[in-house]
Amino acid sequence: MIVMKFGGTSISDAEGIRRVAQIIVEEKGDVVVCSAFSGITNTLLEAGVTAANGDNSYKRIYRDIVQRHKNAIKNLSLGTESDLLFPVNEIHKELEKLLEGVFLIREFSMRTKDLVMSFGEKVSSRLLTSFLKSRGIAAQFYDSNQLIYTDNEFGNARINAELSSKRILEQLTIDKNTKKIIPGFTGRNDNGVITTLGRGGSDLTATFIGSVLKADEVQIWTDVNGFMSADPNKVKDAFSLDVLSYDEALELSYFGAKVLLPHSIRPAKENHVPIVIKNTFDKAFVGTRVSKKTVPLKDFAKGITSIDSVSLINIKGSGMVGVRGISARIFRTLAENDINAILISQASSEQSVCVAVQPEATTTACNSLRQEFQLEMMTKMIDEIEVDSNLSIVAVVGDKMRNTPGVAGRIFNAFGENGVNVVAIAQGASELNISIVISKTDEERALNSLHNAFFTKRRVLNLIVAGKGLIGTELIAQLKATRQVFLNEKGVELRVISILDSKKMLFEPDGIHLPSWKESLVHSTISSNIHQLLKLIKTNNIINTVFIDCTASEQISDAYLQLMENRISVVAANKIANTKPMKVYERLKQTANQYKVHFLYETNAGAGLPIIDTIRNLKDTGDEIKKFEAILSGTISFIFNQLSETVKFSDIVKKAKEKGYTEPDPRVDLSGLDFARKILLLVRESGRDMEFEDIAIEPLTAFCSSEKESVEEFYQKLEREDVRYDRLVKKAGEKHQVIRWIGKYESGKASIKLESINNEHPFYSLKGTDNIIAIYTKRYANPLVIKGAGAGAEVTAGGVMSDVFRIANAMNKRWDY
Ligand code: ADP
Ligand code: ASP
Ligand code: MG
Repeated sequence: MIVMKFGGTSISDAEGIRRVAQIIVEEKGDVVVCSAFSGITNTLLEAGVTAANGDNSYKRIYRDIVQRHKNAIKNLSLGTESDLLFPVNEIHKELEKLLEGVFLIREFSMRTKDLVMSFGEKVSSRLLTSFLKSRGIAAQFYDSNQLIYTDNEFGNARINAELSSKRILEQLTIDKNTKKIIPGFTGRNDNGVITTLGRGGSDLTATFIGSVLKADEVQIWTDVNGFMSADPNKVKDAFSLDVLSYDEALELSYFGAKVLLPHSIRPAKENHVPIVIKNTFDKAFVGTRVSKKTVPLKDFAKGITSIDSVSLINIKGSGMVGVRGISARIFRTLAENDINAILISQASSEQSVCVAVQPEATTTACNSLRQEFQLEMMTKMIDEIEVDSNLSIVAVVGDKMRNTPGVAGRIFNAFGENGVNVVAIAQGASELNISIVISKTDEERALNSLHNAFFTKRRVLNLIVAGKGLIGTELIAQLKATRQVFLNEKGVELRVISILDSKKMLFEPDGIHLPSWKESLVHSTISSNIHQLLKLIKTNNIINTVFIDCTASEQISDAYLQLMENRISVVAANKIANTKPMKVYERLKQTANQYKVHFLYETNAGAGLPIIDTIRNLKDTGDEIKKFEAILSGTISFIFNQLSETVKFSDIVKKAKEKGYTEPDPRVDLSGLDFARKILLLVRESGRDMEFEDIAIEPLTAFCSSEKESVEEFYQKLEREDVRYDRLVKKAGEKHQVIRWIGKYESGKASIKLESINNEHPFYSLKGTDNIIAIYTKRYANPLVIKGAGAGAEVTAGGVMSDVFRIANAMNKRWDY
């Protein structure tokens, strides 16, 4: 036997009723518990409150409710069926009178509230019954008034199990072939007065009836794919859970997974009736099965949930240490005042106890506690009782967290990295959940960062690519080609969420479709702006983000600090930031450290060659860099490898430019500006302070200084250098030597100079556009040499990719314990 419950989200209009009726038939539902149309319960409450305030507009609210019901009746062509229209009209009249009464006496007691709220279910269930009948399906309406007996606690009544079971068995076991339709949420007390089971109470109606009838399963039909690892409205990457134990489901729902009412689980658990959460809008989804069984997952946790709004009451004082009974008195006081303590945490020093309560209960809770501890407060054993409002609770739930060390560490790590401040933390003795109180503004960020930290299969590194020049374009092509392999091998999805050039940007939180990024960027309507980008990242709760700067823009490099402060890692192919004054360089490093983000720029020297990484590794393992010599420019390498007695210097420069080896303006290369930036960075990476001005540069030509000249004019002047170079080459040749322009660092001094070197020098046989560096350290008296292609979009983009991989691997390592 199958008991089905359809939530308001499934029934909000005629179309919903049709869809639900089809499910009842196809899935062979026997007993159907029905919620009010979505939103109707709230609207009924609003009408009551408005009337009680003496505000006439309750009538408009009432009419809206009636209209929604009538629209559905009309749409389902049930208007002529007196069987339905008459009782519904009567029900509406009764509601109208009731609201009028509230308006007149200006009182809306809990008892009246329950009565008013019961009208939603009253109508929807009758409507469904009539529709089924109109389609020739045997269906019968059963009033919950005759089935669910409760105590007198209006608003949150408890079911009288004995009496209700008896009634249910009496009435619902006859006529097996008729579908029995029952309004959820409501019941009656001993005197026949209507009560409600608390908001979301239809779930309980269903599980209770299912348990009494020993149903094969109770199906809860809603608008999402079952119990998910987190609220899909808050966590983008949430996924459906196939199986949950009753206890896990209880913890998840208690801490906010609204998909099932927490206390609806108990009757099912006690009677071993499985609950299956299904999706009315996706019939193909098999559902989440809540039963005795749990399936151990690779992940520690099953789900992450949250309670939006809580206040924290803090009772503290040095006089509390070692005094017995304080906690007991706190809880007794709260219980006497009907206040539910959502979470409790006590410092091990016993100097403070904090209790999370619903915001509405805060004032009563504080006042009653102040009264209870009046004496202790007078004698200063207890300081003031403080309240912290605007907080949320997030909870990590799962059976497997028991006896697994490191879970709390993982939580704090995730929060630390995403800037979520922890206000209080509590772990249930069952170890089934860890709950953390945080600021309400951090809630979604906290949920997303925890989700990312706990569900290993679904790690995402979000990438922003700035610049669509040669390197940016090549990088995106490489990402497109390697993403799948990286996902398969490392379990990390490299997701490009934004691409920007100087004018426009793309932003797509689910990932940009890479094959058509160029066209999309052309058609984008968002103008390129870092502030706007940061806003979008924030509102979309995007975490684990890397900004990749493939531009040569100073404006973009100026944004690094701001990006890092927003917990975005930076990978820079752009050299500008690192070669600003030493204090800027240090500030960038400190900021990266402080906000626990990465700042990587391997391609700033030697393109894709692992130079910076090697220097860092040497330093980190205790070696000391004493000296290095380097040629760190493909252009320079090319020029001097070509230079001979038969070719002119100016011609080679032109050739280099034609081949695309030089900067757009070759003076940037020939002045040594670009080369010196790289030397400066390497000196700094070796652990020494240096400013740009400290580097003694011998430019390749004196004609670089006038920027006013056009490149053409510059070329003409450059020819005047040919004689000088011809002479230098000849002179070197006589000694079997070659000319090289070498950057050097030794004993605190750096220079870039033309040198004549013989065949014993490691730079003698340099070829093509290769870069080279010889590093002399304490360990490497014979230098450690790194040599290879040092220019070109392909190797540079490859270097940027290695930086991205470093970050992805670090992310993986962090969680793999
Ligand atoms: P119904 O009207 O069907 O009872 P509810 O609104 O009460 O529906 O519950 C379903 C909602 O619960 C979903 O729309 C979803 O936003 C929310 N929700 C919160 N946490 C979770 C979770 N962990 N898994 C699934 N849904 C969740
Ligand atoms: N209609 C009620 C509510 O909105 C009960 C339910 O939907 O379960 O709370
Ligand atoms: Mg619900």
